[in-house]
Amino acid sequence: MEMKELSPKECHAILQRAETGRLGCSFENQPYIVPVSIACDDDSIYVFATFGQKIKWMRANPKVCLQVDEIKDHSRWSSVVAYGRYQELPEPQFKQQREHARKLLQQRHDWWLNAVAERRIATKDVSVEPMFFRIQIDSVTGLGTE
Ligand SMILES: Cc1cc2nc3c(=O)[nH]c(=O)nc-3n(C[C@H](O)[C@H](O)[C@H](O)COP(=O)(O)OP(=O)(O)OC[C@H]3O[C@@H](n4cnc5c(N)ncnc54)[C@H](O)[C@@H]3O)c2cc1C
Repeated sequence: MEMKELSPKECHAILQRAETGRLGCSFENQPYIVPVSIACDDDSIYVFATFGQKIKWMRANPKVCLQVDEIKDHSRWSSVVAYGRYQELPEPQFKQQREHARKLLQQRHDWWLNAVAERRIATKDVSVEPMFFRIQIDSVTGLGTE
């Protein structure tokens, strides 16, 4: 098995195919990683999220990363890490970007959007406030075996 570095173009193609990514953030020297459903365009990774620890931490330290992979088996895989900056997309100032994010995410992640909406209605819990954010990609690295 030979490992090779992926080009930025290959990395972006893998990011755009990915449905789930592992979002890494950190606060006061403590890393934190959670899976999130993603959609990407050329510059950014979009996420629809509930408020909680990850948002608090990314507000405090917007330098984040996100990892995705495509694993066929132990000898055929690729993995991409995108480094970037967290940016929240509140209304009304990011109306256009929210709409763009919603459209991209809705193509694949209706289950997650619906799950959040249902939880919010069922619990009447304002902490289940839906929000959009993006990671503005600064750089990408990738490794793969094919
Ligand atoms: C396939 C998949 C897709 C997902 N897509 C999204 C998405 O698009 N948007 C989104 O907001 N969330 C998504 N989630 C849920 C996400 O991984 C987090 O669990 C959730 O967002 C809560 O994170 P938080 O930091 O707000 O946690 P909080 O509700 O603030 O809870 C913090 C505490 O719970 C623990 N915790 C939180 N999440 C996890 C976890 N996943 N695994 C283990 N411990 C955890 C933390 O260690 C911490 O102690 C997805 C999960 C899966 C499995």
